[in-house]
Amino acid sequence: MHQFWDTCKKELERQIDPHNFISHIEPITISGITDSEVTLVVPSAFSQGWIERNHLRDIAEAISRGAGGERKISFVVAAPRAKEARTPLPVKTKQRKTAAPIRLNPLYTFTSFVRGKSNEFAYASALQAAVNPGAKYNPLYLYGGVGLGKTHLLQSISQLILDKHPGWSVLYLSSDQFVTQMISRMQKGQMEEFRNTFRNLDVLLIDDIQFIAGKPATQEEFFHTFNELFHAGKQIVITSDQFPKDIKKLEDRLRSRFASGLIADIQPPDLETKIAIIRTKAETNGYKLPEDVIHFLAETVKSNIRELEGCMARVVAFSSLKGVPIDLVLAREVLHDVYSNAQKHIGIPQIQKTITEYFGLKPNDLKSKNRSRNLAVPRQIAMYLCREITDESLPQIGKVFGGRDHSTVIHAHQKIKKEIETNTKIYSDITAVKKMLEL
Ligand code: ADP
Ligand code: MG
Repeated sequence: MHQFWDTCKKELERQIDPHNFISHIEPITISGITDSEVTLVVPSAFSQGWIERNHLRDIAEAISRGAGGERKISFVVAAPRAKEARTPLPVKTKQRKTAAPIRLNPLYTFTSFVRGKSNEFAYASALQAAVNPGAKYNPLYLYGGVGLGKTHLLQSISQLILDKHPGWSVLYLSSDQFVTQMISRMQKGQMEEFRNTFRNLDVLLIDDIQFIAGKPATQEEFFHTFNELFHAGKQIVITSDQFPKDIKKLEDRLRSRFASGLIADIQPPDLETKIAIIRTKAETNGYKLPEDVIHFLAETVKSNIRELEGCMARVVAFSSLKGVPIDLVLAREVLHDVYSNAQKHIGIPQIQKTITEYFGLKPNDLKSKNRSRNLAVPRQIAMYLCREITDESLPQIGKVFGGRDHSTVIHAHQKIKKEIETNTKIYSDITAVKKMLEL
């Protein structure tokens, strides 16, 4: 009987979204099977209702295939397990254990996270950490630029773990909240309580760890918290917009601990992922967006998904305020102020001029064949910016940099793109040049 139900579950696992499967289907057990009926045991009346509304059909079909014919399905709610009554620690609940409860956004779940090439590794790692906390990827370090979904994934982990283990104490907070709470406890002479809150956790999820940079006392405290949880096999997940090694003013021992588990990065989304995200969000919010508007939004907003959502909401709001339908004309009008880059027409000459000024070069230096480093790097940065900002083709860019081949432009673009992530000098040079270009 149990084997039969396991086989059915395996089949269901392939059909049902992982988050829903883990939260609702996996906990179901079987208590009886006859020629006409199968009895399933569910953890609560709530989950029974949810399953009946959402997956009764899938379950019936899996059972029918497994048993070679249809069966009536009935549910019984499991009696509360005695084991849970003898928890040694004070009762842990979502609300009680957190130092100061942080409200999670109920919309940030694995189900609502749209997957694409740019984020699938981070998604899969986060899901693993949620399904097998403390097992494999510990600590898990999620790294990615602003607005790319780090917080969304981190909160998804929290919600899934709490769905599965309602009694666990899972703490989600950003590193600056850690700092604030620590300082306030310190002032009240309650460091012991502060330590206990953290050290009794089952899961610690810290968002934006970069904010503890330059705060030695907090880092010291965090180091001990980290170690205790880690050695007790508790899952720790950290997010940041920088790699551990690039966070300045961070103690080396923390840096090396952060890098000791799995580092998963989230890249900016490609066009298809952006389109899929807009579609999903439009559907969730009940917006009706024409295809060309969806494409326009995806193309206009470069990478930040928060910005993408904001632009979509703006277009919808304008349409409703003005009482006009959502179309491309409206979308262009609304986003004109936000995205005037295209209208600004920043071209190659302007980029070359700005780079020359910024690096103090002579007008022809960018075109010359001189490969010394103080010229080669600015030249590569200039090519990179031309590729990123303008619509000029690779051969065209090569041509205006002293008749170079298009493969040279590709090489320069790739090299700088990679260096931005690790080389702070190049990063700040590019930021400064962009500022001069008013980008
Ligand atoms: P970060 O913490 O990396 O700055 P967030 O997690 O706050 O970014 O994401 C910004 C917004 O974009 C949120 O509203 C989030 O729901 C949304 N978002 C990001 N990535 C995705 C995705 N892959 N699918 C759906 N929504 C996403
Ligand atoms: Mg965030």
